[in-house]
Amino acid sequence: MASEFSLITRYFTRTTPNAVLGVGDDAALLAITPGMELAVSTDMLVAGTHFLPDTDPRKLGWKTLAVNLSDLAAMGALPRWATLSIALPEADEAWLTAFADGLFKCADQFQVELVGGDTTRGPLSMSISIMGESSPGRALRRDQARSGDDIWVSGTLGGAALGLAQLQRRAQLNEMDAMHCRRALETPQPRVALGLALRGIAHAAIDISDGLLADLGHILEQSSAGAEIHFESLPAHPALSPLLDQAWARHCLLAGGDDYELCFTASTSRQEEIVAIGLELHLPLQRIGSITSHAGLRLLDSSGHLMPNQQAGYDHFA
Ligand code: ADP
Ligand code: MG
Repeated sequence: MASEFSLITRYFTRTTPNAVLGVGDDAALLAITPGMELAVSTDMLVAGTHFLPDTDPRKLGWKTLAVNLSDLAAMGALPRWATLSIALPEADEAWLTAFADGLFKCADQFQVELVGGDTTRGPLSMSISIMGESSPGRALRRDQARSGDDIWVSGTLGGAALGLAQLQRRAQLNEMDAMHCRRALETPQPRVALGLALRGIAHAAIDISDGLLADLGHILEQSSAGAEIHFESLPAHPALSPLLDQAWARHCLLAGGDDYELCFTASTSRQEEIVAIGLELHLPLQRIGSITSHAGLRLLDSSGHLMPNQQAGYDHFA
């Protein structure tokens, strides 16, 4: 294996004008904007658990950072810096070049600097810690949903799960749909601009990584609230919509992971502002139901009847 240090220098060292000190010393030095709070989050991707081992390394590089950015988006925080811990079975130069390309493409797009990390030999896995800035008292937390709030979802849901089903030959899609769903699965777009725009408007927010029902469930639990969701209003990915008479497709919509859209709640008085944000960002924002004072998540069909299929989302230990 090329020396650990030459790997770090070649693939993971870039200039970091927004850090006091970046890669190369025992620690990075970062100066946070005075008066701001530091938002910190870590997400790990393990081969075989979070991605198929033969995944295109360029897309994997993008996704490794994107899923972390999604967590900061869900807090309404501005991403600033990241560290990368990576275990590699071997020093495959072509693989590393592509992985670093994808990672830095995402970093450049969201103006995040890689300021450190750790590199070791081992079964392929990577973990990013991301740091960002949050305005005091304005972070979008999970525990702030209020009875009567509208519940909103950005973008579309179920595309990534459908993309995975297609890759694993559990679903058969035409070429166009297959391409769009694979894109949703492999290169998710973290909703950073939306999170920032929702500061001072949304009460609670979460990013949908484990499926809508599971992730909305976290908001409900932490806010000690319930919800009523209208199945018909859920923004299904266009490739998924025609399949929704089948249980597995409804499962993709309600409990499929990896969409990285935001689910948030806001007072009904903010509807116009939220619609304006969606137009400004060219991002569909859909009202899917409301927060209730009685606990539990009620999923209603078009005639207002309770639907039975409330599947849980992805749980690694279930
Ligand atoms: P130490 O032994 O002091 O922990 P390392 O040899 O692990 O130092 O790392 C040397 C430098 O390279 C450190 O600044 C570390 O943050 C950085 N680094 C190591 N691996 C990575 C990586 N995958 N991406 C970015 N920076 C890295
Ligand atoms: Mg180290």
